This record gives sequence, structure tokens and C-alpha cells, in this order.
Amino acid sequence: MHSITRTHSASSVVALSNVHKSFGALKVLDGVSFAVDRGEVLVLIGRSGSGKSTALRCIDRFETIDRGEIVVCGHRVNDPKLDLRALRQDVGIVFQSYNLFPHLTIEENITLAPCSVKGISKVQAKEQARRVLAQVGLEDKLHQYPEQLSGGQQQRAAIARSLAMQPKVMLFDEVTSALDPELTGEVLKVIEALAADGMTMVMVTHEMGFARGIANRVVFMHRGKVHETGPAAILTSPATPELAQFVGTGL
Ligand code: ADP
Ligand code: MG
Repeated sequence: MHSITRTHSASSVVALSNVHKSFGALKVLDGVSFAVDRGEVLVLIGRSGSGKSTALRCIDRFETIDRGEIVVCGHRVNDPKLDLRALRQDVGIVFQSYNLFPHLTIEENITLAPCSVKGISKVQAKEQARRVLAQVGLEDKLHQYPEQLSGGQQQRAAIARSLAMQPKVMLFDEVTSALDPELTGEVLKVIEALAADGMTMVMVTHEMGFARGIANRVVFMHRGKVHETGPAAILTSPATPELAQFVGTGL
């Protein structure tokens, strides 16, 4: 099997070691280990139900784990003394469905957390909102409401909102899956630019062409385990029949 066993090193931004997680009788993560170094893009793939979202949610402590260890930017995520607020400042997460508050303008969406969580001034937060919106190509949408934007623009605004917290790592969970195909490209372009800029990322995606181009490391999950892992090349030369079948069918 084409797999690399890694325990976390000092340079890992995110490291999962032998993580177990069940929902009742359902074992969803069965000894999962992987690590992401600074500036790396890790792409998590696998069939629906293989545990990808759960793994991401454990990284940000939206779920607690049963066994094993997760270390994120120096935070021991499963430590009872974890500073959750500090963890959430270091980790940005964007989901499939739009994450914006519908009753707030794009600017208000973006300035909310920096003002309330980080305590920066309104003026500073607005300056920063302009900067992160420019980064995703939406500087002209400051005063619009989410419903006035296309799905692709809303996802770009959601990414901008995460960036405003100046995270050390970004988690993306199928951020283009709910979009019409013609809007997918503009969101992927933003993610590509972030990667080129050196942002550390863990991303779940079904866009295999995109994954091949951007991944430093691919983790293929199957039945709650890391079934195969390696560089992007494993997507074109899989070592296991399960990954071969997965990339062959595309889903
Ligand atoms: P993926 O993202 O790879 O599709 P998930 O991590 O979302 O997989 O889900 C893995 C399995 O865990 C699925 O069978 C799903 O139904 C189940 N699951 C996920 N979250 C919960 C939950 N909060 N309670 C019970 N079962 C859950
Ligand atoms: Mg999922």
C-alpha cells in the first residue's frame, strides 16, 4: 500500500495521530493519522460517508474525538484545558453551504468577528474588510447583502470573512459542491491564489483536476481509515483498487 506514516513534527500546522471517533455504534474515524506542514495543501478525498467532514470538524473541535490526538498550531485540540477561542482564531473554516449572515451586508459579515472576538476597532476592521474583499475580487460588494450576490460570489465573500481573522490554516469542506459548474472556477481560483500565497490548507473536494494541480499531499479516506496517501501523483497512479475505482468514476 502506498502510504506514508507520519507522526507530527515540529513544523506540522495540523497533525492527527490515530484519531478514533464514533457516533453511537457507527465508527466514523478508525485510527486516522495525517499531518500538514506550513504552506502545504492537503486534499482529503473519498466517497460520501467516508469521514472527511468529521475529520475536518474534529480539527476545529466542532466534534470531540474518542481516542488519539490532534494538534493544531500548537493547540492540543482534545486537551480539556484547550483555549477554544484561540484555536478558532488560528483556524478558518468554510463549508459547502453559504456561511454568511443574510441580514448583514458583506462588510458587516466580515467585520463582525474581528471586532467582537479580536477586539479591533471598527475603522481598522473596515480597512481590513476592503483588503480581504480585494483579495477575492469583490471589493465592489461591500454594501450589498448576501442574497444580491451569486453563489460563487457568496462563497468568495465567506472565504474573505475567514481571512479577516488572519487564520494560520484554512479548512475547506466541498466549498464548490453546491455551485453551478460555471461558478466553480472563480472560487477555485481564489483558493489557488491563497495556496500560491503560502496559506496552509486542508481541503475536501470532488474536483479531481483541481486537486491534482494544487495538492502537496492527498489523503484518500475509505471506511474511516486513511486508505492511501501520497503526493498528487497518486491520483493518476493509484496503488489500491479502491482509489483507482474512486478516481476512475470521479465520485
Ligand atoms: P463525508 O464527509 O466523507 O461524506 P461524514 O464525515 O460527513 O462523511 O460522515 C461520516 C459518517 O458519519 C456518515 O455515515 C454520517 O452519516 C455519520 N455522521 C456524521 N455526523 C454525524 C452526527 N453528528 N451524528 C451521527 N452520525 C453522523
Ligand atoms: Mg462531507
